[in-house]
Amino acid sequence: MAGTTGTRRRAPAKAASSKGRAKAASSKGRAKSASAGGAEEAAALDTRATGHEEPRTKRAAARKGDAQASAGAPEKKVVAHPPPKPDYPRYRVEPGQRLSLAKQDPGATEHYESKRDIKEDLATQRSRISDLQARLYAERRRSLLIVLQAMDTGGKDGTIRGVFAGVNPQGCVVTSFKQPSVDESDHDFLWRYHQRTPQRGMISIFNRSHYEDVLVVRVKKLIEEAAWRQRYHIINEWEHALSLSGVTVIKFFLHISRDEQKRRLESRLADPDKRWKFSVNDIREREHWDDYQQAFQDALSNTSAEHAPWYVVPSNVKWYRNLVIARTIADTLEAMDPRFPPAAEGLDDVTVPD
Ligand code: AMP
Ligand code: MG
Repeated sequence: MAGTTGTRRRAPAKAASSKGRAKAASSKGRAKSASAGGAEEAAALDTRATGHEEPRTKRAAARKGDAQASAGAPEKKVVAHPPPKPDYPRYRVEPGQRLSLAKQDPGATEHYESKRDIKEDLATQRSRISDLQARLYAERRRSLLIVLQAMDTGGKDGTIRGVFAGVNPQGCVVTSFKQPSVDESDHDFLWRYHQRTPQRGMISIFNRSHYEDVLVVRVKKLIEEAAWRQRYHIINEWEHALSLSGVTVIKFFLHISRDEQKRRLESRLADPDKRWKFSVNDIREREHWDDYQQAFQDALSNTSAEHAPWYVVPSNVKWYRNLVIARTIADTLEAMDPRFPPAAEGLDDVTVPD
């Protein structure tokens, strides 16, 4: 990995005190059916991995039928079993939708008034993620790629801390993409990203991503319009190819207001412990606020796909942002329905010698 691109594994989280709650009712049900399903379930897994093959079993056919029946209801496209209210398809950019960021309230918190109101729910969502990630890791057949994009100070780092506490660091890799190195720039723009896509069983988090190559390069006029414009198509094809290989792709734009960015930059300046985060470059970039909003709007409108949806997450309020993202990731993992592999035959007769 080149020096300008940092990769780190997450630090182990504090004891997963809410682990018990991870065994949410639906997960328990799945665990049972996974052990009972045997070969039929294993055969159905391949179908789920790609979503493009004909179902091979009755059960898989029934599942596909359900999905088709609900095709008209956006709430059920990503989420097989939508959670009780609130649910967050409302923030998803539908394929082909012309997004207007000015119409999305970055300060939204639904009916919640304080962090206390969501504390328990957030813990539940984290536990769901942790539980489902353990299955994904054990299954080792599919993987999840999470893309985080935002304006400077938008909260990408805070999201990673706030949402992934409790996830086994062994199953999760975070890559922060900075300005490309010379070596990276000497390759096609996707080269460095492709090397960081998740292995089977893993969750990869992109802190900035291939979308910088249609955002910063556009705003700073680093390449010609024709060059960045054709990248929408290239990105769509690439993400589609990933999804056909069993990589589920989910993308979040952390939407903050211009005023909120000002407050956050000022707070970085004022707090000695936060000053390290402050970069004068952030002030220069802020001058391009409108251009960035336009670039995000176009990028999201052109690249939200059924297999790789964008979510515009109201992010002025950090705890609400974490709740929305945690829930969306948990729902996405649940819809993937990862399963522990079947145990070896004949274990009932095995005793462990003294
Ligand atoms: P930060 O995330 O605050 O550490 O800043 C990383 C910097 O790298 C930002 O200013 C990004 O705009 C820049 N950056 C990330 N990816 C690219 C890219 N593909 N091309 C140019 N600049 C990039
Ligand atoms: Mg920065």
